[in-house]
Amino acid sequence: MATISEDVPVLIVGGSLVGLSAALFLRRHGVDVLAVERHAGTAIQARAGHFHLRTVEILRSAGLEDAVRGKSEEQYPPDGGINNVESLAGREIANYFPNLNAGVDEFSPTIRLFINQDALEPIIRARAAELGARLRYGTECLSLEQDSDGVTAVIRDLASGAESQVRAQYVIAADGNRSPIREQLGIAMNGHGLLSNSITIYFRSKSDLGPLLADRNQGVHYVTNPLLRGFFRLDRSGNAGFLVVNLVGDISRPEIVAAYPSAPWANVAAGITEARALELLRAAIGIPDIPVVIENIATWRAVADSADRYRDGRVFLAGDAAHTVPPNGGYGGNTGVQDAHNLAWKLALTLSGVAGAALLDTYDAERRPIGELTVEQAFTRYVNRVAPYLGTDNTQPLVDDFSMEIGYRYNSAAIVLEPAVLESAVLESAGPESPAGALPLHEHPRESFGRPGARAPHVFLDREGGTGKDAVSTLDLFGTNFVLLTGPEGGDWHAAALAAAKEADVALDAHVVGAPGFPQAYGISPSGAVIVRPDGFVGWRAVAGSGDSPTGDEPEAVLRRVLRSLLCRDA
Ligand SMILES: Cc1cc2nc3c(=O)[nH]c(=O)nc-3n(C[C@H](O)[C@H](O)[C@H](O)COP(=O)(O)OP(=O)(O)OC[C@H]3O[C@@H](n4cnc5c(N)ncnc54)[C@H](O)[C@@H]3O)c2cc1C
Repeated sequence: MATISEDVPVLIVGGSLVGLSAALFLRRHGVDVLAVERHAGTAIQARAGHFHLRTVEILRSAGLEDAVRGKSEEQYPPDGGINNVESLAGREIANYFPNLNAGVDEFSPTIRLFINQDALEPIIRARAAELGARLRYGTECLSLEQDSDGVTAVIRDLASGAESQVRAQYVIAADGNRSPIREQLGIAMNGHGLLSNSITIYFRSKSDLGPLLADRNQGVHYVTNPLLRGFFRLDRSGNAGFLVVNLVGDISRPEIVAAYPSAPWANVAAGITEARALELLRAAIGIPDIPVVIENIATWRAVADSADRYRDGRVFLAGDAAHTVPPNGGYGGNTGVQDAHNLAWKLALTLSGVAGAALLDTYDAERRPIGELTVEQAFTRYVNRVAPYLGTDNTQPLVDDFSMEIGYRYNSAAIVLEPAVLESAVLESAGPESPAGALPLHEHPRESFGRPGARAPHVFLDREGGTGKDAVSTLDLFGTNFVLLTGPEGGDWHAAALAAAKEADVALDAHVVGAPGFPQAYGISPSGAVIVRPDGFVGWRAVAGSGDSPTGDEPEAVLRRVLRSLLCRDA
């Protein structure tokens, strides 16, 4: 066996969207990382393309908004939409998003966008490398072994065949939906299982398909006709893109569905040929003899499942390794990037000794319920948009997109719940062991008001500076340290926070916010305060001034307790 050749605080297995994001976020917190990826480079094909508000907010905070928006505008119209058509040339059946960005400016300084995964990954990779991440392609992780002090991984350079050992404190398994590490750890997946053996047909058309869309916004176009169900993503040129086919045949007829319980229509990939793909593509375009060239056909499994645990000792699952969803709603990559963002600051503060080890337990406590919710919501969208034959008995009601993207809430030891919330949760909960069980997992961002556990709301700080992408938002204050925000009369909290943080040796920035609308957006009086965690979620809130503490405690004593709690130091 090779001797240990490298020591690294965090080893990331998988250098695709989520592994690269984890490397970037960890480097932003100053953590040394090594990511290994068996492929020779980043993704070579478009898969993810629809990126949600929260993901773009996170990329903005990492300094990537301009690069990502620039590339997105090269590839797609900025205000594209998502609809459902009989074929590109045919009738529109439904319109899910007439304009992807309708209404977003009320909630965010940035936008939703379309950018192909193979264009996004190099942007994240370059930034992670610039910040010092070690990214090793053509390198496979063969095995992991944990002990009480760390993890030993065997990796192999695929070009030379040379094997070596890496010693890490922690490992992030961002190794995709088939996750060999998850398998090795014996972590089961549960949910709706395999929905379809799908295909993606990458193509180029010799004629411009854009005019077929007439005045319908270009973006994602679901296709529902007697030959197939799936969706198109057409790029800005109007003559290239891909068609996903999830189902084939006329499953709108209940007698057919009833006659074939094995659902052969969901096995598109089996024996797929270029001729068959061409037939499906032409039927989806709606012009029988249109000249198109098929560049590639990828086969993949549409699955809606969640891992039973996101953590095993020193190993954390993130991205598709932790939850695998059908692409409807564009949740897979987005949720994975947000997993990595949640985990990075926790690993950083645990490694530096600032946080207690129990902070790492809050990764599973916070992200797994959101992952499960996401699996269900992606499944609901799959059934509604593609596979109504599955019926609604096993589907959750649709949660609106704003609530899913920026209204999901955390409930863990790293959130200081307000007494009123705790009380009502206890009253409503099913049993005494789960006093917080009844807390909502999501709410509309208009209703979150900066309650602990919610994403900190966006408020522009400088109205004079405009409201465009360069204007400064509260969100731009978050990303590395804890941040205390007080209203214009919250000077006591401000001074107390700085003193408490200094004593606790915690990096904390403090700002008195005078922007109109700030206290209302955060649900506090002008003398109230909130502490926002490095991931942009509210950890603690005092609705009123420090003099109104029900226990009569000095503000500094209150904040010392709060910081200990947010960092899980007493657990
Ligand atoms: C057609 C389609 C459309 C989609 N559209 C969207 C969308 O619009 N929005 C969205 O957010 N998501 C979308 N998704 C989902 C998205 O592509 C995935 O969720 C995302 O790629 C997950 O990223 P990941 O890094 O977790 O996993 P992956 O992208 O699967 O990457 C895992 C990586 O780990 C590597 N690896 C595995 N084992 C090892 C090992 N032992 N050693 C070294 N390397 C290893 C693999 O080579 C791979 O590169 C779509 C998916 C499909 C199929």
